Amino acid sequence: MADDLSVVNGARVSFARHKTEMDDSDAGLIRFLMRERHGTPFEHNSFRFHIRAPIFVAREWFRHRIGSFNEFSMRYAKATEDFYVPEPDDVRSQVGKPGAYSFEPVEPDVAETTREELRSVYETAYATYERLVELGVARELARAVLPVGAYTEFYWTINARALMNFVSLRNSETAQREIRRYAEACEQFLAEKMPVTYAAFVANDRTAP
Ligand SMILES: Cc1cc2nc3c(=O)[nH]c(=O)nc-3n(C[C@H](O)[C@H](O)[C@H](O)COP(=O)(O)OP(=O)(O)OC[C@H]3O[C@@H](n4cnc5c(N)ncnc54)[C@H](O)[C@@H]3O)c2cc1C
Repeated sequence: MADDLSVVNGARVSFARHKTEMDDSDAGLIRFLMRERHGTPFEHNSFRFHIRAPIFVAREWFRHRIGSFNEFSMRYAKATEDFYVPEPDDVRSQVGKPGAYSFEPVEPDVAETTREELRSVYETAYATYERLVELGVARELARAVLPVGAYTEFYWTINARALMNFVSLRNSETAQREIRRYAEACEQFLAEKMPVTYAAFVANDRTAP
């Protein structure tokens, strides 16, 4: 539900003008708006994503206040037995100081142990959850035993301006690898649906207007 023309028309309404097709002057206008940080014309569009992600990723995601969320409810529905186990290459160590960590690969046996430990905790946690639900404990309380590696699901609707802010922060070297993968995917949709806006964003050091 997004295109570059929505930016152009958002800006050109100042002069009571409306375009139905993009031309070079419109591309120039978008670059100008991006460079000068005239952000509001980038708000007249929307992207709706249907996301499945571990709870620890969703917690980071929900900090982005400009956008709308609706999430799967573990009060109303039974939790699924679906948990995040990183690929061996994604098991990493953390070296350095807060704010300047580097994340280094670990030995293969450490990666495998990590994966096994995670699986074991997930299995125990989910078995406990099921036992409590069977005993008649409310789902809203039984869920307390589930770890943040459990998957959740949500809809996220957002305009291009806030999406650029999101990808600028989360498709970044400093972001956690797991949310970064999602941000990379979101960014592809921005590039596909709004190519002129996207090119201007990249040319502007990936700073949202
Ligand atoms: C690498 C990284 C590490 C982080 N570490 C931590 C951490 O340790 N602890 C922690 O609590 N959070 C942390 N965060 C989350 C971070 O503080 C932000 O909450 C999150 O990135 C959302 O950014 P945002 O406010 O720009 O986005 P949005 O909430 O989507 O807001 C978009 C823009 O709208 C404007 N805006 C929104 N709300 C307000 C407001 N109330 N007042 C004024 N302007 C507003 C701002 O211009 C803002 O940039 C981290 C984020 C990153 C990327």
